[in-house]
Amino acid sequence: MLNIVLFGPPGAGKGTQSERLIEKYHLVHLSTGDVFRANIKGATELGVLAKSFMDKGQLVPDEVTINMLRSEVLKHPDSNGFIFDGFPRTNAQAEALDSFLNSLKTSISVMLALEVEENELKERLKKRAEISGRIDDANPEVIQNRINVYQSETAPVKKYYQEQGKFIAIDGIGAIDHITTRLFEVIDSL
Ligand code: AMP
Repeated sequence: MLNIVLFGPPGAGKGTQSERLIEKYHLVHLSTGDVFRANIKGATELGVLAKSFMDKGQLVPDEVTINMLRSEVLKHPDSNGFIFDGFPRTNAQAEALDSFLNSLKTSISVMLALEVEENELKERLKKRAEISGRIDDANPEVIQNRINVYQSETAPVKKYYQEQGKFIAIDGIGAIDHITTRLFEVIDSL
């Protein structure tokens, strides 16, 4: 199985690049943000809870997120592998993912981290707000909060994968196609 953690700050291009990776490698795309948004749309209990954190740019608590992620993975028993997009976002989530995948006799193959500097991220999120309709893209304070949470809680997850020799940084600046090519080259060389 090919199990990829596609990592990076909000606006790094994880969603866009995931679409291209799943097409080429026939993987299941698992975006925790997308699952939460679908639950908000469906007005489920999980959606109501998640919304109270997402609207402020805070993380949904680990336990809730990990349980949701596990049940999403179990919906695809015959998959070739997964792209985890927006997960893990804390070290506790990374540890839970490892032990869960271990119980399924598989593991993370690689973390691909899209690197984009902060001013560029803010510009991209501002543009995305016009088309995404996402509340958390529209408010500069919420955007700043998401970037701060990324730096304090999520960026340390890189080290977790570095220590396992699974971390690869990818330049996330430039034409979308060029970034896709960089990702393909790395994956093909695994
Ligand atoms: P995203 O679509 O990945 O930008 O996620 C949007 C929002 O969903 C985040 O700002 C968090 O509030 C929440 N979220 C998504 N994934 C996670 C996660 N792995 N852990 C905690 N909260 C998450």
